Amino acid sequence: MKFERYGIGIAKGLTVTIRHLFRHPITTQYPEQRLNISRRTRGNELIWDRNNCTGCATCAKTCPQGVIHVVTAAKIDENKYEVEKFEVDTGYCISCGLCVEACPFDALFMGYAYELAKYRRGELVQTNEMLFASEERRRSAYMHPELADELPRQTLLLERNTEE
Ligand code: SF4
Ligand code: SF4
Repeated sequence: MKFERYGIGIAKGLTVTIRHLFRHPITTQYPEQRLNISRRTRGNELIWDRNNCTGCATCAKTCPQGVIHVVTAAKIDENKYEVEKFEVDTGYCISCGLCVEACPFDALFMGYAYELAKYRRGELVQTNEMLFASEERRRSAYMHPELADELPRQTLLLERNTEE
């Protein structure tokens, strides 16, 4: 039978602890610090381009959750439909991206941002302007790889560790 001296295990554990005490931490102090996510991320919000949208509602028919609601009005003079309301209840959206894949007119994109938490349930229902692209709501490259170059380069934890 092998005997170990009492306290050896504790000493080994302490050695590991002390060694890590002097290492630079690689954790990110979110939300004060943020990392750039991958350019290949699918994203979990929707960006709608009103100019490209014809109101065909293909996205709404494709959505497995039934959370896209499109209301159009006929413009007889111009022989087309105008979108009056484009609404997504993001509270039920599962970010599957099927609506983006189905849109035949490049009017729907997944978003690159990831901080979508809201305080109230009603704020999760996004309509018209709320779905537009902006500096904070950028389009991801999902189904649109040509957009990848516009996105920031991903920050790796290793780089966070060495930049300070
Ligand atoms: S991402 Fe999926 S669940 Fe969300 S709106 Fe589009 S089709 Fe519906
Ligand atoms: S499929 Fe595209 S063009 Fe048609 S209503 Fe949806 S977003 Fe608009």
